[in-house]
Amino acid sequence: MTDIIDGKKIAADLKESIAQDVAQMDTTPGLAVILVGDDPASHVYVKNKILACEKVGIKSFEARMPKKATQYEIAAEIEAFNDNPNVHGILLQLPVPDHLDSEALVQKIAPHKDVDGLTIANAGKLFLGIEGGLVPCTPQGSLLLIKSVLDNLSGLNAVVIGRSNLFGKPMAQLLLQENCTVTIAHSRTKNLKEICQNADILVAAVGREKMVKGDWIKPGACVIDVGINRMENGKLCGDVDYDAAIEKAQAITPVPGGVGPMTIACLLQNTVKAAKNA
Ligand code: NAP
Repeated sequence: MTDIIDGKKIAADLKESIAQDVAQMDTTPGLAVILVGDDPASHVYVKNKILACEKVGIKSFEARMPKKATQYEIAAEIEAFNDNPNVHGILLQLPVPDHLDSEALVQKIAPHKDVDGLTIANAGKLFLGIEGGLVPCTPQGSLLLIKSVLDNLSGLNAVVIGRSNLFGKPMAQLLLQENCTVTIAHSRTKNLKEICQNADILVAAVGREKMVKGDWIKPGACVIDVGINRMENGKLCGDVDYDAAIEKAQAITPVPGGVGPMTIACLLQNTVKAAKNA
């Protein structure tokens, strides 16, 4: 029988253990979130992050900046949080309005407070296999989901579809650290179906509704669906054709309720880690 990986439950358990951890700390971990503009989805994401902080005892700091805020003004806000000893984690909610250089802004975040793991220092540590860096939240959460169903990843073929800095590249790196044989696929990849058919672990992070078909799945594979797509009927679905894939996979994440809840839980975990390292 296929194992439906319950991301909600695994994230709830993780948050519970984070809350216990925070309760025993001498310092109160602090997370600062910078939100620029009025994108409704970003406002919802930030609200959820702040609520999640409250529930585990992390203090949140919020900087809401107008849509017309300049690069300089946002950089100044980041630097103020860099200097604030009560703030241990800083997150710039992406995307930011088009006139801003988001990459340059992210690189202003002090690496030890970079809870999204997107600075050159943290990405470099992950690439070099140096411990102690902050790892991007969604790949970190996805790995926890994989490990919830697989004891030993060593030697398994892992295919990651998507090569973004936010997800695909760090996910591939984490799987490599687990001694998987990793293939990174992207929009120019040839024979994607055949490549996927060889995957013991298949991770899809593209953003295309039900792109991965049932006959792309190796029987017994572990399938992690990172994509979030809104269908015509208004409901959410992933990058994997779930109903077909469930017939082939040994384990699979649903959308919603799979990877999504893990992202916030890992953000809280990174904030606590940053506070402990401060
Ligand atoms: P992204 O930056 O747009 O990257 C998408 C990747 O998919 C790119 O590497 C692109 O290849 C590749 N791609 C596009 N079309 C393809 C095709 N036909 N075949 C194979 N590969 C293809 O997106 P992202 O930020 O990584 O996010 C990916 C998805 O995950 C989105 O749906 C996003 O909403 C979701 N997501 C969810 C969470 C969560 O918390 N659950 C977190 C992050 C992201 P090229 O590089 O060649 O263009």
